[in-house]
Amino acid sequence: MKTQLRTDITIADICKGFVYNELEGKGLFGLDGKLTIQPEYQRNYIYADGKRDVAVIDSIIKGYPLGILYFNKVGEDRYEVLDGQQRITSFGRYVTKKFAIKDSNGLEQYFNGLPKDLQDKIMQTPLLIYICEGEESEIKEWFKTINIAGVPLKEQELLNAIYSGPFVTLAKAEFSNSQNANVQKWSAYISGSVIRQDFLHTALDWVSKGEIDNYMSSHRQDTNINELKAYFTSVIDWVSTTFNSVEKEMCGLEWGRLYEKYHNQAYSSDDIDKKVKELYGDPYVKNRKGVFEYVLGGCIEHKLIEVRVFDEATKKSVYAKQTKVAEANGHSNCPLCACGSNSNKTRIWKLSEMDADHVTAWSKGGATDASNCEMLCVTHNRAKGNK
Ligand SMILES: [Zn+2]
Repeated sequence: MKTQLRTDITIADICKGFVYNELEGKGLFGLDGKLTIQPEYQRNYIYADGKRDVAVIDSIIKGYPLGILYFNKVGEDRYEVLDGQQRITSFGRYVTKKFAIKDSNGLEQYFNGLPKDLQDKIMQTPLLIYICEGEESEIKEWFKTINIAGVPLKEQELLNAIYSGPFVTLAKAEFSNSQNANVQKWSAYISGSVIRQDFLHTALDWVSKGEIDNYMSSHRQDTNINELKAYFTSVIDWVSTTFNSVEKEMCGLEWGRLYEKYHNQAYSSDDIDKKVKELYGDPYVKNRKGVFEYVLGGCIEHKLIEVRVFDEATKKSVYAKQTKVAEANGHSNCPLCACGSNSNKTRIWKLSEMDADHVTAWSKGGATDASNCEMLCVTHNRAKGNK
């Protein structure tokens, strides 16, 4: 791979013919049409937050270094931005009056409102640009390692770069497109950011059962995303028809795994809804995120919902009461040891050797308070388990 350092290109040069696509949130072209600012393997523009974009302009005005930009030479006098797209799009948008910065008096200033000398200072700022030329694979490997931008690339953004091609382009158009009308519905079940590729990541994770790398590699040259889309739609449809209401704890659950495990079972969505509502209203349920899998599995795996345990004060007082009675009667303070015929029949356990148990199980409506608490020795407590 050949690299060449250029220091003769200024912000004015890059901004000549700068095109920004507001709809897709992409800086597209610059350098008089010779530079592609956002090749398909680049992430979308994420600096338009009134902070990072403003910081880029502040740095330029103060004369701070903007860092090295990396371009990939793709033809005679044709380049693609390999790294620096966020910074370039920021100054390109500022110069084309897409946003304002605050001046020293706290007033909003668009580029055309700046004094002429400041305008010139920005435009004449020279940039530090490495131009590289080489095989696609070397360039991509390199891109992976020069990940020096202010916001680190997410795993999916890297994978998009590594496996760029027709499949990624189509997949991004569907799953990384904040204009897609389905995004709102999906957001109920998937967490993260559309433009940072979290939705695409989830869709790929589901269809590939966690083998995203392999999947992207083998589908790289596909000219359709039918399977990806169909699988994703099946999962979303299954969740939204199985559960009538949308709860905020549903967002970000492993719906792909749950779909695989449970989608062949028949459920009444009204029964499901009733159970979910019951559990949401139950003060002993500590983990609401576990409610959905718990219900799908037939309300058996109590540990999924982390039923509240007895507090230390309750345990201590029940222990004291049980032990007093046991000592007076000459039998063990573990009621299960006491009624057995083993060597522990008369044993008085220490508090640390016992644990609290629900007399009437929580799942049968038993409360988690002193009236329903019984101390058992650790062995008997474990044996009784979560029944
Ligand atoms: Zn016991």
